[in-house]
Amino acid sequence: MNQTITVFRGDGIGPEITDVVLDILQTAKAPLEFEIFDVGAAVYEKTGAFIPEEGLKSFEKNRILLKSPITTPIGTGFKSLNVTLRQKYDLWANIRPAKTNPALPCRFEHVDVVTVRENTEDLYIGEEIEVDADTVHAIKRITRKASERILRKAFEFARENGRKKVTCVHKANILKKSDGMFLGLFNDIAKDYPEIEADSMIVDATCMNLVMHPERFDVMVMPNLYGDIVSDLTSGLIGGLGLLPSCNRGEDFAMYEAVHGSAPDIAGKNIANPTALLLSACMMLDDLGCKACAQTIRNALDQVFAQGEVLTPDLGGNATTTEFVAAIKENLNR
Ligand code: NAD
Repeated sequence: MNQTITVFRGDGIGPEITDVVLDILQTAKAPLEFEIFDVGAAVYEKTGAFIPEEGLKSFEKNRILLKSPITTPIGTGFKSLNVTLRQKYDLWANIRPAKTNPALPCRFEHVDVVTVRENTEDLYIGEEIEVDADTVHAIKRITRKASERILRKAFEFARENGRKKVTCVHKANILKKSDGMFLGLFNDIAKDYPEIEADSMIVDATCMNLVMHPERFDVMVMPNLYGDIVSDLTSGLIGGLGLLPSCNRGEDFAMYEAVHGSAPDIAGKNIANPTALLLSACMMLDDLGCKACAQTIRNALDQVFAQGEVLTPDLGGNATTTEFVAAIKENLNR
């Protein structure tokens, strides 16, 4: 029986990449039905809500969401919809795998790292207090409960996926109590996974080492803010934001999305790379038990990369999104 999933088309490049990804999923005969909703700024202007109530109800019913990027205005009172969704549905584990594809141009050959990012707290609780006209405090919240579950998740992920090492990324030298607790819990939990190497690194040193020696990293686990920044860095290591998928999982709900944003600079130009959203959809298919279908799609994509003739501009080519997708579909239909 087909699984019904909820789809949010997002804004900026969101609608363009969503439509082509759904097209590819249908071509690959993925056993899915879609409930599709427009979300974001354009919807707000029409309806007064950024996400329609029916969209949230659909997600609450289906429990699986394929979500395109949504624009977050900077400096206004408007809270990020992405952060809101992650917190409202307690999507506490954000998993972002970055692996080099040998066919694609990038600076490094053997990157294969996974960022496991805590997704519900840290500075993202959005509590900022104006102490006086010249001073603002932003609250960084780290709790034992959220830390323990994400740390354990990183080790479980490593165990399930035959990974050898988990690195805890932190700033406990400065944030002795908050990151200090996170690191202390990491060291305790690591003892339950003796077969997996556990080490830790300060976040600034991590950034330098990722760029110098990415092959030294395997699974990395970290609080929310570092995860946001470090995972973008890992996308740079493998060829750019257009390639990095993610899933956001909790106990009851799961949301799959590209790591990148709504890319307003290229929206409507038919040059956006849909790979990150497509690979997120493949992560979703894996989790739904449709591993063969996910692999068929990945193979079709890899063939396009290997041929190297039909690539979007972010990958050094001059193909449109439409041409890139047509090449993937041609491989699927073969
Ligand atoms: P961005 O990720 O949208 O874009 C950064 C750069 O990468 C841009 O030059 C863009 O053209 C390029 N890029 C991104 N995705 C691409 C793709 N698929 N194909 C080709 N090029 C791509 O980051 P930004 O410009 O800082 O953010 C734009 C908006 O997106 C902001 O409002 C931000 O808050 C929001 N955002 C949303 C999400 C999300 O929905 N999960 C994540 C990050 C940012």
